Amino acid sequence: MAIIPINIKEGTLKLEEYIVGIDLGTTNSLVAIIDRLTGKPIAIAGHNAEVIVPSIVYLNPNGEILIGHQAKPFLLNDPANTIFSVKRLMGKTYSDVDTNGSVLGYKLIDDNSESLIKIKSGGKFYTPIELSAFILKELKNRAEKQLGAKIVKAVITVPAYFNDAQRQATRDAGKLADLDVLRIVNEPTAASLAYGLGLDPSETKTIAVYDLGGGTFDISILKIHQGIFEVLSTHGNTQLGGDDFDNAIVRHWLDIYIELREEAQMHSLILQKLRLLAEEAKKHLSSAMNFETDLIIEKMSISLKLSRLDFEKLIKPLVDQTIASCKHAMKDASLSHSEIDEIIMVGGSTRIQFVQDEVKQFFNKSVLNTSLNPDEVVALGAAVEADILAGNRKDILLVDVTPLSLGIETLGSLMDVIIPRNSKVPQRAARQYTTSVDGQSTLRICIYQGERDNISHNRKLGEFFLSGIPGMPAGMPKIEITFMLDADGILKVRAKELRSQVEQHIEVKPQYGLSDKELEQMLLDSLVHAKEDMSYRSLKEAITEAQNLCYATQNFIKKNKEELSEFELEKTGIYIEHLKTAISIEDKDQILKAHDELNDFTKSYAERLMDKAIVMALKGKTIEDN
Ligand code: ADP
Ligand code: MG
Repeated sequence: MAIIPINIKEGTLKLEEYIVGIDLGTTNSLVAIIDRLTGKPIAIAGHNAEVIVPSIVYLNPNGEILIGHQAKPFLLNDPANTIFSVKRLMGKTYSDVDTNGSVLGYKLIDDNSESLIKIKSGGKFYTPIELSAFILKELKNRAEKQLGAKIVKAVITVPAYFNDAQRQATRDAGKLADLDVLRIVNEPTAASLAYGLGLDPSETKTIAVYDLGGGTFDISILKIHQGIFEVLSTHGNTQLGGDDFDNAIVRHWLDIYIELREEAQMHSLILQKLRLLAEEAKKHLSSAMNFETDLIIEKMSISLKLSRLDFEKLIKPLVDQTIASCKHAMKDASLSHSEIDEIIMVGGSTRIQFVQDEVKQFFNKSVLNTSLNPDEVVALGAAVEADILAGNRKDILLVDVTPLSLGIETLGSLMDVIIPRNSKVPQRAARQYTTSVDGQSTLRICIYQGERDNISHNRKLGEFFLSGIPGMPAGMPKIEITFMLDADGILKVRAKELRSQVEQHIEVKPQYGLSDKELEQMLLDSLVHAKEDMSYRSLKEAITEAQNLCYATQNFIKKNKEELSEFELEKTGIYIEHLKTAISIEDKDQILKAHDELNDFTKSYAERLMDKAIVMALKGKTIEDN
C-alpha cells in the first residue's frame, strides 16, 4: 500500500519525509499523519489493523522485548517484568511517587530518593525514558512500514500540567527512539486542532477539553484567538480513569457473588480475569443495556451480569469527581458556563453515555464534540501540529501559563501575590509598596511561589535588598515592585523607589528544583482533603481484603487440617498473626506486605489440595458430567 516515488534523474528511490504526531498515552499510544490525498489526519494501524498500541512493555528475561498487544498477556503471566503506566513515572524522583509504587506490579528501585526512578526487571535497570522509548520505537517502526518512508521527525503530546522535568523526559525518550522531537504539544491543544479549532486566525473561541482515559482525568479550559492557544486553566486527577470503573465492577461482582469472592481470595489470577471481564462489560455497556457472561473457574460456572443502570450507579461517584474538577477549572479560568463555546471529549472512557450526559448537564450544553474517535483525537491533532511545523499551514503559537502564584512577603509573613497562578506567560505585573519605619533606607524583598497566605507554607525563590532609599518619613517612599515572567518561565524582579529613581533587580527561575511532588502539593492545596480521603480509602480497602484473607485462610485450615503438615500449619499461623498485627496498626504498606506473604505461602498447598480435590471429584464422575 505504500507509494515510493522514484527520482528518475538520479535513478534513486526518493523516500518521502513525514513528520508524525504521537500520543504517548498512559494506557494507549498512537501515531498519526496527514493523509496526502485527503489532507486529513489519520491514525496508522499495525499489521493487526488496530491503531491503538497499549502502552505496555514486556521485558522477557531472555532479552526479547515485546510492546503493546503482544505484551498485554504478560500482565497476567509475568507481572514483575511487564511494565505499564510508565508515563506516570516520567521525570519523577522516587520521592515523588512513593505512594504510587505499591499499586504497580513491577519493582521500582530506590537508589537515592532524590534521583530519577528506575525500574528493575530481570537483573537490569530501566528508566521510564528508556521504556517510553521502546513504545515510541514501536510507533516509529509501524509508521515506517506502513508509509514506506523513513520517519525522523515527530511531535509528541503531553498533559497540559506536565512540568519541565516531565516534558524534558518525554523529549529524551523521543531522542532515544531516534526521533527528532520538533515540539512537545499539550494534549488538549492537540485535541482542539484535531477538531479544526484554532486553524482560522479570525476565530476566537473558548473551549473545554474533557479527557478521561484509562488511569487519568484532565480538564483544560483553552482560549483560542488569532491562532494562539492559551491554557486558561487545567485541573484533574492523576489517579482516576476507566481502570477505576473496571475495579468498581469487580468489587460489585465480588460483593454479590460470595462464592466468587472466596475463590478470588485464594487465587489472585481470578481477580485479574475478573478485571478483564469487567472492562469487556464496561465497553459492551457503552452500546448495549445489559451484559452477561459465564465465568468458568475450576469447579464452578458463574453467570456474571451487569446492567447499564447498575454500571451507572457504580461509576457515579467517580464521574462526580471529574465534574468537581471541571468546577475548579472553570473557577480558575473565571468563566461562566455560557462563555464556553465548545466541549471536546477525549479519551476512551468518554464513550460512556453517562459520562457524556453528566458533562452536558454540568456545562449546560446539548451537544459535545464527539464525532472523532476519542482515543485517536490527540494523535490526530498532533499530526495537524506536525503539518503546521512542516510549513504546510500557517504557524500557530502556543501560550503557556504559570502553575503557581508568584509574590512577595509583606508584614506579618503574609504572601502578597503579584502574578496569580494560571496567568499566561510572558507576563508582567507591578505593585507599589512603602516603608514602615521613619528614615528606613533599605528594604528587603523576598520572593515566594505558592497559594498559601502564610509565606512559610510557600516556596522561597530568592531575596534581594533595595538600598539607598533617601531618608523619608514612614509611608512616604513609593516603591514599585515589578515581576516580569518570560516565555521560558524565568522571573525577573525589579524594585524601584519612584521618588528617587533608586532601583535594584534580580533574576530567579521559579520552577527550578521544585520537585513534582512539591508542585503538586502546593497546587492542590484545596484538594488536600480529597487526597487524604483517597489514602484513607485505599487503607480501608487493604484492611477489608486482608480481613477476608485471614477469615478464608482460617476456614480453609479448619476444613483441611489433616492434609497439611505441621510446618505448614505453624507457618500459616505466624503469617496470619503478622497480618492481624498489621491490620491493628492500620499500616497500609505492612498490610499489603503481610497479605502477600500469607497469600504466597498458602497458595502452594491450596493448589495441591485443590488438584487433589479435583482428581477425587473427577473419579466419581461420568464423562457427561464434565
Ligand atoms: P490513555 O489516555 O490513558 O492512554 P485512552 O484514552 O486510550 O487512555 O482510554 C483508555 C480507557 O478507555 C480504558 O480504560 C478503556 O477501558 C476505556 N474504553 C475504551 N473503549 C471504551 C468503551 N467503548 N466504553 C467505555 N470505556 C472504553
Ligand atoms: Mg490520553
